[in-house]
Amino acid sequence: MSAANYQKVTFILSAASVKQLPLDEGIEVAFVGRSNAGKSSALNALTNQKKLAKISKTPGRTQLINLFALTEDKRLVDLPGYGFAKVPEEIKRKWQLLLDTYLKNRHCLQGLILLMDIRHPMQTFDRQMIEWAAFADLPIHILLTKADKLSKGARNNALFTVQKELKILPGKLSVQLFSSQEQIGREELIAHLDSWFDFE
Ligand code: GDP
Repeated sequence: MSAANYQKVTFILSAASVKQLPLDEGIEVAFVGRSNAGKSSALNALTNQKKLAKISKTPGRTQLINLFALTEDKRLVDLPGYGFAKVPEEIKRKWQLLLDTYLKNRHCLQGLILLMDIRHPMQTFDRQMIEWAAFADLPIHILLTKADKLSKGARNNALFTVQKELKILPGKLSVQLFSSQEQIGREELIAHLDSWFDFE
């Protein structure tokens, strides 16, 4: 396991449609979550680079698929955050379509990292993603983010509750605690990603 695999990351492009994506080759792992779940912070913590979140948070890019290269044929994908209440319906529909099209058609997609605020896990969007991934036979690894916001006992309770629920849901599902602020769970995430990316 090596954190170094994730620190050499470089920005490839922001895609407004699947047609703009690089060739469907190699391995991609996509990060997805409701907006404010802590996705940008997690990508920053993983790669040790502030610029990733900056790129993804640039106005106009939050609704796009942002791609980052780890090596020539391994990519991290930042999918558009979901659930901004103030966004007009038409834009929401566009997001949904982009997300759906990517998820349904991308053969090199190896797995999804689904981020949920530990204080509000398993919301409607999260359940939809889990259901869809099971249907597509795609594994999901869940990060319960902002774990530092809870005491150790409460954190572990939240983890246990989600684990219990995942057991009765279909699909290849796993879950861990995560905090970008306190560096909780970074090594566990890296170990998981390494297995998907086939890093030594
Ligand atoms: P995104 O919309 O999913 O990309 O979420 P962000 O990464 O921008 O984070 C949303 C908010 O949650 C920001 O105010 C962050 O400072 C905060 N946040 C993100 N990660 C953590 C964390 O690990 N701990 C705490 N306490 N706050 C966090």
